Order: sequence, then C-alpha cells, then structure tokens
Amino acid sequence: MVDVGNCTSCPLPEAHKRLEDVHISWHEAVNQYCEPDAFRRNLNHAIQELRNVSWVLQAEKDVIPGFESWYEEWRNRFRADARMKWIVKARNTIVKKSDLSKLSTARITLVPEPSFRGRTEYLVPADAQPHEIARILVEKEGLREFNLAGLLIVERRWVSTELPDDEILGVLAHGFGRLCEMLWEAHERCNSQFRATTCGGEIVPSEYLRALNWKLPCMEASDEDRRAYFDVRKMTSISEYTDEVPILPSGEVTGRYGIELQKLKRMQSTGIEGFIEGAANLIEVAKKILEKDGNHKLMVHVLGQTKSAIVALDPGSREGELLFWEKIAVRARELAAGGIVVIGEFSHVPSCISIDKGDLSRVRQGPGIGMVVVGPNGREVLFWTPYERNESEYRFEPTHRFDNPGVAFLQPLWEIWANPERHS
Ligand SMILES: [Zn+2]
Ligand SMILES: [Zn+2]
Repeated sequence: MVDVGNCTSCPLPEAHKRLEDVHISWHEAVNQYCEPDAFRRNLNHAIQELRNVSWVLQAEKDVIPGFESWYEEWRNRFRADARMKWIVKARNTIVKKSDLSKLSTARITLVPEPSFRGRTEYLVPADAQPHEIARILVEKEGLREFNLAGLLIVERRWVSTELPDDEILGVLAHGFGRLCEMLWEAHERCNSQFRATTCGGEIVPSEYLRALNWKLPCMEASDEDRRAYFDVRKMTSISEYTDEVPILPSGEVTGRYGIELQKLKRMQSTGIEGFIEGAANLIEVAKKILEKDGNHKLMVHVLGQTKSAIVALDPGSREGELLFWEKIAVRARELAAGGIVVIGEFSHVPSCISIDKGDLSRVRQGPGIGMVVVGPNGREVLFWTPYERNESEYRFEPTHRFDNPGVAFLQPLWEIWANPERHS
C-alpha cells in the first residue's frame, strides 16, 4: 500500500489518485474559463478524468469486501442523478462546441468613462471573441463614434444544452462529490481512513466534506473566476491594479511619522461611524505622511467582518483605475464588509453627483487630501482638505465635510450593496 497525498497506506491508490487528478483538472478548467477553446479542451479532459475513477476502482475491486452489491447500489444512485448520468454516459461522448455555444452566455458590462454612470449590460454568446463583442458594442453604443473609453467586464457562464440550468463546472464539482463519497465508503470498507486534500495541502475532515456534499472547499468557481476585463478602446485584456499595503510595525510608523497607532486601532473597532467621528485624526496622519514622503497613495481600507484588507491604487491607466474600484467592490462582498474607508491625495475633488454646485464653489480648486467613508446602508461622507504645495512646504486649508456626496468612483460598491443577489 502506498500513500496518496495525505491518505497514508491507501488501500485504493489508483482510484484515489484518479480522484485527485479530477480535482486538478477541474481547477485547470476554471483557469481557462474565459478562453472558449481552451476551456472546452480542459472541460473534456476533466470529464474524462471523472469517468476514469470508476473504471480504475473496478480494477481494484478485489480489496473491497462485498464489492459487487455495494458497487451496484452506487451505480443505481448515479443512474437516478441527472448530472451524474450526463457525466458517465457513453465513454466517447465529448462536449462539442455546438453543445456549449447554444445556451452559454457572456454578460458584458460596459463601465464607461468618466462618470461611471449608466453602465450597460448585454447578453451575448459565451464563445464570442473580443472582436465580436467590440462589434456588438459599436452597433449598440455607437462606441467608436463617441470614442468612449472605459472598462468592459465579460462574465461567462457555460452550460450544456442537456443541463441548461446548471453551470457546467458546478456539474463537474457535483460529480467529484459523488465519487468522493463513494471512495470514502470504499475506504471504510477496507477499514481505512479516507483523507481528502485541498490544493493548499490541507486535510478536509469528513464531517466538513459531508456538509459540502463531498466537494472540496476549493471547488467553487467564484464570479471572479468567470470574469475577464478589457480596456474597451483597445479590446485588450487588463488585469492587475493594486498594491497590497505592507503593514509597518507600529514602532516604525511612530518613528517615521510621529503617529500613535493606538487611536487608529480603536477607530477600526467601532466601524464606519468610528471613522467618521475620528476623521480629523486620520486626516492629521495623512498630512504627516504627505509632509514626510511628498506623496500619499490612495489607500482603501475594506472593513471586513472577520478580517480587513488595505490596498492602494497603483495608477496605471484610467481603465486600470475603473478595474480597481470593481475589484474593491468584489472584495467588499467577499469580506461582507461593513464599510470602506478611502484616504489619500487627489489632484482635485473626486467627481460627485449630489454635491450642490454652490457648496463646491466654496472649495478651492486644486489638490487635496480626500477621505471617503461609505457603508452598505447608504451612508457616505466625504472629507476634503485642500492644500497648496510650495516645493516641500504644504499649506493645508480647513477640512470641508459633505454628507452623501455620491462619489462617482464608488458606483461599483453601490451596485453590489444594492443587489447582493445578482452578484452572489
Ligand atoms: Zn486513499
Ligand atoms: Zn482545489
């Protein structure tokens, strides 16, 4: 007997190894989700791997007590399960292009420049190539005519004509789950402990596996896995956009900027209201950073329920910036954020929809420290501290406060907080 992953002295090493191959090929298919041809190849490969598990298990049947009647029961269960039936049907069946192209869709969302307003969505065939999507946009939006710049989000959903209601990688994950359960039982019959391992090498306890219908916790394709992002002008894909912000040891922060972090930590524990109340403190910190470093990257603090993330915008292109805010919204959803705090230097007041022009005219044009606190309940406060810079000298003006200003770049967050269902 040999070890398979964390399964020591595995009684069914070939079948168990094949199940791990299914897991790997499933992830390979996820990684190619946005590439129609590569996806289909990987999908077929994963299906093939799924079918192999049962055949290989039959070759190892001699070590499983009472194999015939036990296995017959499993075959009956599979026959009664539409998704399993689809997976295990005739060996030579492969998913053809025509089978996938009929009902699969790509939801394309155009996030326009510069206002973020009026994003539009269309459903197109999932195998549409970027140039075809561009043509559709030209027709529907008069895109080139207006030379519109912006971000294009393409979110694909692959389904087979035979299982139109099931996203296809979900079908495969289901198949994995059934086979995993079967192998778990087979190990039991051999008086052996089945151990399932995630990509990260962690053992998943049986009770947890059972609760997940025997799928590994990493086998859930997220919305992000199914999305690709394009610069709409060039129809080239764009990806990275952020810097993870290193958390400096508090001694170093105090040494460099003369800031006591304790106050800020206390603020964090009281959520967005704490940040609104303590805004003056944070703005003082930002001033010190500006004076010391000569710049203050735009930092976004996503206040998650159990953990928080701080990311900084790394301005590459305007489209990259649009993508940045989309991803912040995704992260806010993933962390079930109770709010977002944005702080940093802006070259001018962030564009807003509801600040009264009269209010704005009181504000000197030019750069400033902007701080926006926003929560899922629609609460939004902007603090704006204009400054003048002379060489390395800063002269800060008093801070203006605007309630519910409608800061335009926060639009993706509002979308997600307004329709959590659509995005989950
Ligand atoms: Zn094993
Ligand atoms: Zn995995």
